[in-house]
Amino acid sequence: MLWVGVGCERGTPRRVIEAAVQQVFRANHLAESAIAQVCTIDLKGDEPGLLEFCRDRTLPLQCFSAVDLRSVTVPNPSAIVEAEVGTPSVAEAAAILGASRQSGADAQVTLRVAKQIFRQAGQPGAVTIAVAQGEREWTGRTGQLWLVGTGPGQLDQMTPAAQTAIAQADVVIGYSLYVDLVRSLLRPGQLVEALPITQERQRATRAIELAQWGMTVAVISSGDCGIYGMAGLVLEELRSQGWDGKTPSVQVFPGISALQSAASRVGAPLMHDFCAISLSDLLTPWEVIEKRLTAAAQADFVIALYNPKSKHRTEQIAIAQHILLQHRAPHTPVALVRSAYRPDEQIILATLATLLDHPIDMLTTVLIGNQSTRFHAGWMVTPRGYLGFEG
Ligand code: SAH
Repeated sequence: MLWVGVGCERGTPRRVIEAAVQQVFRANHLAESAIAQVCTIDLKGDEPGLLEFCRDRTLPLQCFSAVDLRSVTVPNPSAIVEAEVGTPSVAEAAAILGASRQSGADAQVTLRVAKQIFRQAGQPGAVTIAVAQGEREWTGRTGQLWLVGTGPGQLDQMTPAAQTAIAQADVVIGYSLYVDLVRSLLRPGQLVEALPITQERQRATRAIELAQWGMTVAVISSGDCGIYGMAGLVLEELRSQGWDGKTPSVQVFPGISALQSAASRVGAPLMHDFCAISLSDLLTPWEVIEKRLTAAAQADFVIALYNPKSKHRTEQIAIAQHILLQHRAPHTPVALVRSAYRPDEQIILATLATLLDHPIDMLTTVLIGNQSTRFHAGWMVTPRGYLGFEG
């Protein structure tokens, strides 16, 4: 993208500025459609010809103070200009400053056209033009971060709002398995960045980086993005970067979480007070998880266990079973729901005593009933209330 630095005498008409820009771009084989911004000194922020030129072209006008412009090293400083406005360069310094502010401090900025002065016969005023090139593309839009929950896996279990967000975004970022699940929503020309499951923080940082360039970025999580999903990681990272809450803008699209999709496949196990506990001790100390298991068991919550068991993490589910058995009967109903709403869905009904006899992995959600939960004809039901219950 190109940044056009402009200095002009008071009262220089729009058409003189227009002709000067055209001439510079033609002579240097530059495309006017690549102009990102017009930059000048704040004294010219109300210059009618310059404002009209920018309005006609719908180009943003960026004004800098003399102090900021003075700090830029330019090839053609002028003592006369310095005496007049307090900086030895307006056009060159403004173009370079505009390009470097948008491209980032570490970016390479090149002065493509050194300052040139124009006058037009029969017209008042004079205009100076310089052109700088930034390293990065720049859209001039405010970036948007859409944090999207894609539900358990099947497209028709995703909200229409989430589907529209994925179809409209410039970039879709997510764990490759989840990107595959929404592939039919993608359209040509969209950027898709599918990253391995382990690189969650990198995904968050990358999404923010792209949004800061003005793109609309959909970050996808399975289930709900705000439940053990990417929404928290992205917002945490934004917070650590000193985000102002507005740029990039953020919108969260909810989705059906695993506890809901798993429950729907076996009946109504979550009918009374329930909680979710993740058995992954990657980001949470194990003592905290044990404490929660004990508290939830004592309080008779129905419990949904997320991340119950991985290839390398096999002990936790056995410890959880042990803790729960101290507070609940061995015949307490348990559902093991694997890959709900996906082609390889598997459902097993077991009890607290027998749950370890069945395969459990990272695609499984384990639902553990409360003291009133019962199986009936292959369905798992927790009564709506405790009143009148005869255990
Ligand atoms: N954000 C997700 C949870 C991510 S944590 C959500 O709201 O659902 C990953 C864990 O979610 C898995 O280990 C598994 O316990 C559960 N899970 C995700 N999708 C599932 C599905 N389709 N069926 C069963 N469990 C699932």
